[in-house]
Amino acid sequence: MNESSKKRRGLMLVLSSPSGAGKTAISRRIIEENPDISMSISATTRAPRPGEVDGKDYFFVSKEAFEQKVSDKEFLEHAKVFDNYYGTPSKRVQNILERGEDVMFDIDWQGTQQLAENARDDLVSIFILPPSIEELERRLFSRAQDTEEVVKKRMSKAADEMSHWREYDYVIVNKDFEKSVARVQAILCAERLKRDRQIGMAEFVNSMRRQSENE
Ligand code: 5GP
Repeated sequence: MNESSKKRRGLMLVLSSPSGAGKTAISRRIIEENPDISMSISATTRAPRPGEVDGKDYFFVSKEAFEQKVSDKEFLEHAKVFDNYYGTPSKRVQNILERGEDVMFDIDWQGTQQLAENARDDLVSIFILPPSIEELERRLFSRAQDTEEVVKKRMSKAADEMSHWREYDYVIVNKDFEKSVARVQAILCAERLKRDRQIGMAEFVNSMRRQSENE
């Protein structure tokens, strides 16, 4: 056995923020740079935005289909956000974790609370804050994916969402995109090195001890 063949326990990395704080761009970059982490794909009852692909950005489902999945206990967590329902399908997440790989979640504070209740040991949560409320508004408008009415609604919800920052393990103010990516990367790296997640370590150390005793 050598150092690189050791097993580790996968972790669940949650990024939450008010819409427009930059969490989607950060999570995309982290996925690109790390082969051992995949994005959880949520189911939602909201309509796809231009450019969004079913099965890649979300699984777009009807309210009836969503309710069926809730009663079939297919979700790891689920919540109503704005006027729509969102939920994390469990199966794929469990498969990835069992392979010793990590899963990243773009979910809100309600979902994060549920994961903390059900899987605290596997959870690492990060809250992303915008540098200012003016900047948040500017980012939401320049995205131009939503109507003005939706943007206004999201702005009014932002203060609400931000009030949950204390429930997270880490908090990052996203002023500089590259710096924020580096910070998330640093958290991921440190959390992967936590002793309890290095489940192959005991065997590795024991095998070295046996070898040294035999020499
Ligand atoms: P959007 O509609 O802009 O894609 O997402 C709106 C909000 O729903 C975001 O705050 C996002 O983090 C949250 N969200 C997306 N998927 C899930 C999910 O599966 N569970 C929960 N609890 N929130 C989600």
